[in-house]
Amino acid sequence: METIADAPNKEVKGSSPPDKKLTVVFVLGGPGSGKGTQCANIVQHFGYTHLSAGDLLRAEQNSGSENGAMIKNMIKDGQIVPSEVTIKLLQRAMEESGNDKFLIDGFPRNEENRAAFESVTGIEPDFVLFFDCPEEEMEKRVLNRNQGRDDDNIVSIRKRFKVYINSSLPVIEYYNSKGKVRKIDASKPVEEVFEAVKEVFTSLDEKVRQHRDIFGRCIRRKKFRNGATKCSWMRCILPS
Ligand code: UDP
Ligand code: MG
Repeated sequence: METIADAPNKEVKGSSPPDKKLTVVFVLGGPGSGKGTQCANIVQHFGYTHLSAGDLLRAEQNSGSENGAMIKNMIKDGQIVPSEVTIKLLQRAMEESGNDKFLIDGFPRNEENRAAFESVTGIEPDFVLFFDCPEEEMEKRVLNRNQGRDDDNIVSIRKRFKVYINSSLPVIEYYNSKGKVRKIDASKPVEEVFEAVKEVFTSLDEKVRQHRDIFGRCIRRKKFRNGATKCSWMRCILPS
């Protein structure tokens, strides 16, 4: 069976028209920075499918999978589950969704996650939505959220912060050096944070509108001597 891995940056099986490029946004930030909450809002307003890597791992753990015990122990200890496991879950969820716009929340968490996802799927994110929040505030939120998670206790949370700083922040820095990070001040109340989030997604929509003719094709592509066409907008995803 053909999977996303076999068809990088092409259609996902299901309702997408052929050759439609996938839009992928990585949603990153520390534990308790508000990724899940804001992703739910983005889904409502902008039609993305939300894939939380942590939720997919917890579902896999509860499904009686052979990896269940390993996932449970690693999550409790704040460690990063092997890329292979997480990437398979993400790929499956993308294929099953039938959508072509994804928010991938809480992944990639380290450099190895990032490189493995890129080489296995051939997908690079359009941009990274980064929720920046002071540790003190994140700790308060996690300890108050009562979602019955066995990693939302003070011992696990301290370990998760360490992993976040040592392993996950370098991934954000990597994308920052490529100009792909959209940073949001996540310390504010939910509604205010969403106003800032909306800006990021709306301006993307606007940009697409400015570049698109009535058939959905890019009208800003320039032709080069070798016959290739390229749009000056780095993130242009429209067909020519
Ligand atoms: N996790 C992982 N790989 C991922 C995402 C999550 O190993 O790509 C594990 C890791 O142990 C992490 C836990 O799942 O600490 C909880 O992640 P989640 O994103 O649900 O929590 P958050 O950090 O957003 O509170
Ligand atoms: Mg989460």
